Amino acid sequence: MFRIFEKHSDLVVGLSEKTDGQMKLVGDRPEDKIALENRKRFFNHFDIEESRVVCANLVHGHNVVAVGASNRGMMMVKTDGLATGERNLFLSLTVADCLPIFFHDPQKGVISLVHAGWRSLSKAILKAAVERLKTDFGSQAQDILVGVGPGIGPCHFEVQSDVLERFREFQAETLVRRDGKIFLDLKRIAQLQLLQLGLGEQNIEISLECTFCSADRYFSARRDKPKEIQAMVAIIGQRE
Ligand SMILES: [Zn+2]
Repeated sequence: MFRIFEKHSDLVVGLSEKTDGQMKLVGDRPEDKIALENRKRFFNHFDIEESRVVCANLVHGHNVVAVGASNRGMMMVKTDGLATGERNLFLSLTVADCLPIFFHDPQKGVISLVHAGWRSLSKAILKAAVERLKTDFGSQAQDILVGVGPGIGPCHFEVQSDVLERFREFQAETLVRRDGKIFLDLKRIAQLQLLQLGLGEQNIEISLECTFCSADRYFSARRDKPKEIQAMVAIIGQRE
C-alpha cells in the first residue's frame, strides 16, 4: 500500500476495501457478528489469526497506548492509537474518512497505528504517537517511517470556522477556498505536524486517495451518511 514500507518484508500493512465489508464493531449487536466475520476473512487474507489482533476503540482523542502479547485479541478502550514492539501481534482500528496513520521504526522493530480525524490531529495525537515510540521503545524521530491515509482529501473535507480555528498555524498551507466554501487538507496537516516532530520528509508517504472520491473502493461517512456505521479496518504488524 505504501512504497515506503516495501523494503521491509516482515511488515504487514493493510486497509480493507468496501468489497471486504463493514468492519466496525459497535458492541453487542447482531450486526457485529457480520463485522466479526468480515474482519476474520480480511485478516485471513494476510494469514493472520484474529486472536493475534489488538483493536483500538476510538474516541477521537489523543491517547496512544503500548500493547503487548497479553493484549492479544483485546479491544483497548479510550484510545485512538496503539504501539508495539512485539512480533506476530497486529494492531488494528477502523476508519471511514479519518486517516489511518501507520508508523514503523525498522531500527527498533516497532510499529504504531493511529486513527486521525481533525479532532485527534488538533489534539496532537501524532506527537503522542512519536513520544510513545521514543519513550517506550527508544526510537529516534529520524528513523521512523510513516504512511498516511487513505482518507478524506481537500477535495471534500469542507469545514466551518470552528474546525479552521484549531489549525490556524497550518492555514496558509492547507486551506482551500472553492465556491465560497472552505476545505482543509488533513493529510498535509498530518505531514506538517510530523515534520515539526523531526521526522524526515523522505520518510513520510501520503496516500493520494480520497475516501469520499473513491466510491467504488471505500466507505465514506461524509458521503454515505449511513444510518449504521460502515468502516474499513486498517492493520499493521511485524511477522516473526
Ligand atoms: Zn475527494
